[in-house]
Amino acid sequence: MVHCPECESTLAEASDVEFVETEATTGIIAASKRFYAVECAECGTTLGSGVAGAKAGGNAA
Ligand SMILES: [Zn+2]
Repeated sequence: MVHCPECESTLAEASDVEFVETEATTGIIAASKRFYAVECAECGTTLGSGVAGAKAGGNAA
């Protein structure tokens, strides 16, 4: 269970946070990685971020 450090909301469910997926646009890393950030649904504070699944072979949707 996660608590938001800003508004102290308890973030227990997926609906309590916003997963913001960001396309990598810097060219060098755009080929295989997507970044995401997790934001508090109450106040919008970014709680964390990371790389969601490096994909081999590209994913040109
Ligand atoms: Zn919050």
